[in-house]
Amino acid sequence: MSNLVPESVFRCFAEVNKIPRPSKKEEQMIEFLLQFGHRMGLETRRDETGNVIIRKPATPGMEGRPTVILQSHMDMVCEKNNDVEFDFTRDAIQTYVDGEWMKAKGTTLGADDGIGVAMEMALLEATDIPHGPLECVFTRDEETGLSGAFGMKGDFMSGRYLINLDSEDEGEIFVSCAGGCGTTAVWSYADQPTPDHSFALRLTVKGLTGGHSGDDIDKKRANANKLLARFLYHGMKKWGLLLADIQAGGLHNAIPREASATVVIPFDKKEEARVDWNLLAAAAEEEYSVTEKGMQFLMESTDVPKTVVDKQTGDNVIRAMQAVDNGVMAMCQDIALVETSSNLASIRLNAEAHEIKAITSQRSSILSARQNMAATVAAVFELSGARVETGEGYPGWKMNPDSHLLKVAVAEYKKLFGKEPVVRGIHAGLECGLFSEKYPGMDMVSFGPTLRGVHSPDERLLVPTVDMVWRHLLSILANI
Ligand SMILES: [Zn+2]
Repeated sequence: MSNLVPESVFRCFAEVNKIPRPSKKEEQMIEFLLQFGHRMGLETRRDETGNVIIRKPATPGMEGRPTVILQSHMDMVCEKNNDVEFDFTRDAIQTYVDGEWMKAKGTTLGADDGIGVAMEMALLEATDIPHGPLECVFTRDEETGLSGAFGMKGDFMSGRYLINLDSEDEGEIFVSCAGGCGTTAVWSYADQPTPDHSFALRLTVKGLTGGHSGDDIDKKRANANKLLARFLYHGMKKWGLLLADIQAGGLHNAIPREASATVVIPFDKKEEARVDWNLLAAAAEEEYSVTEKGMQFLMESTDVPKTVVDKQTGDNVIRAMQAVDNGVMAMCQDIALVETSSNLASIRLNAEAHEIKAITSQRSSILSARQNMAATVAAVFELSGARVETGEGYPGWKMNPDSHLLKVAVAEYKKLFGKEPVVRGIHAGLECGLFSEKYPGMDMVSFGPTLRGVHSPDERLLVPTVDMVWRHLLSILANI
């Protein structure tokens, strides 16, 4: 590791990777950062939430410069391969370099966002780098709820310029993000005896690509729940299909890859049902011929259940699944980015509670547009007799076309590398969204070295981009 460049950043990263720091269990990391700040003789404090700030005065001759906040998150996603013995609350991450990439042995690498933490530490220790007053901020629990940024008070940071070091593509500067909220619907149902002369089918749509319900929502991928809904609605109208079970979708922030339902139809309609199911499969394959090559439609006969979901409620759930908006609803007017979207993440029956619950999420870079999207989704569920709740959500970060920090960041990038950086937004949540709410007028950008396989044991860091980002950062600090 000792011959990697910049030496100081990689040395700090190695130190960080010795400290266990799973999301929501950051105590050792907080202690490490506090000790680091105190050892440097710098003003260091933590807030009630566990965020840490270390202030470093300007270097000689730079006292008149504006304060710049550098910010990263101290926690990491803890994923490992099944065959690896590793305790994330105790063990140090084992890193190695393979060609141009740095990786970890069977675990997440922690470069998200340990490499940002390391850059801040390297700046705090440096004695030969010119910069104005610095505030180095380390938030906790970015990965499982942004709770560090949520809990931060409006007077924790004092600068007006903030550089977030949590982006994953060198050469891209992020200037906006989406806010989001969740809308859930719950239907209570009664058991109804299954009619005589019924035939039971288990329907499964699987093998879809899936992805993140924000960042991947514009990739024209299929939603397994919506495909299943098409057959359920069709069968309800044509044969009076009854719902016995539904387990569709999974994670609240993922495009569902798999959906299944057990349904009951009149015995003499089973051949017709098979034909229509195959027609749906053929239509879906045609519609998604580019993005969903692994899609599978399975129909199996199964034991006829004694009871089904009462027809009224079952029909209501099916109609709601068919009617509810899904996917990209609007594109931004000024940049090529999704503005507003909704994702039908899951619909699952809980037999014990006699409930069926739908989970959806709405995102937008414009708060009112997101609220309208959530209301549109809620109204459909309300029409179908569900109990509906929309969460408070988290704010987005709207692009500031007059950003001085962005102008400096772009100019310095061009000076260093002779090309234009990509300036863009992301249709997902970032901590900057919360900062923009708590610190109105805060001038922010987000960038970082190239990472791949983030949040998986395949996480890897493209080593040469660390030096590029480091030089870019130093030249922004020297010139703002
Ligand atoms: Zn991150």
